Amino acid sequence: MISTVLPTYNRAPFTFVKGEGTWLIEADGRRFLDLGAGIAVNALGHAHPDLVEALTEQAGKLWHVSNLYHIAPQQKLADLLAEHTFADTTFFTNSGTEACELAVKMARKYWFDKGQPERTDIITFDGSFHGRSAAGIAAAGSEKMTHGMGPLLPGFVHLPFGDHEALTQAAASKTAGAIMVEPVQGEGGIRPLPDACLKGLRDLCDEHGLLMILDEVQCGVGRTGKLFAHEWAGVAPDIMMVAKGIGGGFPLGAVLATEDAASGMTAGTHGSTYGGNPLACAVGAKVMEVVTAPGFLEEVNRKAGALRQKLEGLVASNPQVFEAVRGSGLMLGLKCVAPNMNVVTAGYDEEVLTVPAADNVVRLLPPLTLTEAEIDEAVTRLDKAATKVALNV
Ligand SMILES: *Cc1c(COP(=O)(O)O)cnc(C)c1O
Repeated sequence: MISTVLPTYNRAPFTFVKGEGTWLIEADGRRFLDLGAGIAVNALGHAHPDLVEALTEQAGKLWHVSNLYHIAPQQKLADLLAEHTFADTTFFTNSGTEACELAVKMARKYWFDKGQPERTDIITFDGSFHGRSAAGIAAAGSEKMTHGMGPLLPGFVHLPFGDHEALTQAAASKTAGAIMVEPVQGEGGIRPLPDACLKGLRDLCDEHGLLMILDEVQCGVGRTGKLFAHEWAGVAPDIMMVAKGIGGGFPLGAVLATEDAASGMTAGTHGSTYGGNPLACAVGAKVMEVVTAPGFLEEVNRKAGALRQKLEGLVASNPQVFEAVRGSGLMLGLKCVAPNMNVVTAGYDEEVLTVPAADNVVRLLPPLTLTEAEIDEAVTRLDKAATKVALNV
């Protein structure tokens, strides 16, 4: 008989009942070092006291009123995002997928209102991930997600990762309206777009008047050591999708945009019942305050450097298991020689949690708050796991 929870996930046999910082406690009492952070969501770890306080304080006051009214925590978070990013304006969603939906609509409406309604195409790249909605799977286009789900939403042009010629040609098309890209591919296997490529994409967008849509759902909110990953390249998008880390574990997403890119989205053109609700935004505003506090990102960069150095050592001493470390900041991937699931599973036995990704990669997306001692512990446990994997290959 089918499980009462729709079986779309192959779940590991754990039921966590409590979280403390970088640690998850299983129902049987075992303590797991959490290097996955709920897939880059728990940016400040589990049960961060500031977030618990922000949520419980708001919970005692007001949960929901709908967007028929002004929402003070939503306004506060929007102001913080405008202060700290390229954005003039933000729409709040409950997830990254919903952010993708709006980004697509915003780009199309932009060109419609500019009198060029034929510019409906959005250029995307192999290995990308933009969520599991009808638009999200059509945008990414991978067979794994679209198989049996057709007909797909039209208007996406899929290009190989790093094919400059194909890109130049697609960007010059009369129907091209936008480029959507992750500065660091997450699900695709922690594949960073080199800064020079992101700059090149910006130039190409400017040359052809295309909107640059960055999907920073996974790589944003301090994950790479900047508030948003595109800052490393010194460029700014026109539209940006955000989710995961911004809510610190509370469902929250956002689409940030410049005034011009958002110009088509007038009253009545989009909506969400829950999006931007007081609970989510009270937590999101606190996440923003913590991540933008003086010194926080410097610490992330320092810890990222330490973790990366130790992981290089781990790779060097386990050549039968690992091939390379890649990624940016605390968004790191171990490219594996052995099957990546073997590494993830061996990690379970050592009570260390990692996340598999495409391209045979094991992802490390720890809380940005992890400590120096936890970095040492993480690498020790991963080394033990790798030793076991090597014995079995
Ligand atoms: C997770 C993710 C999404 C989808 O976000 P959900 O909150 O799962 O809907 C979109 N884009 C990227 C890059 C992601 O990592």
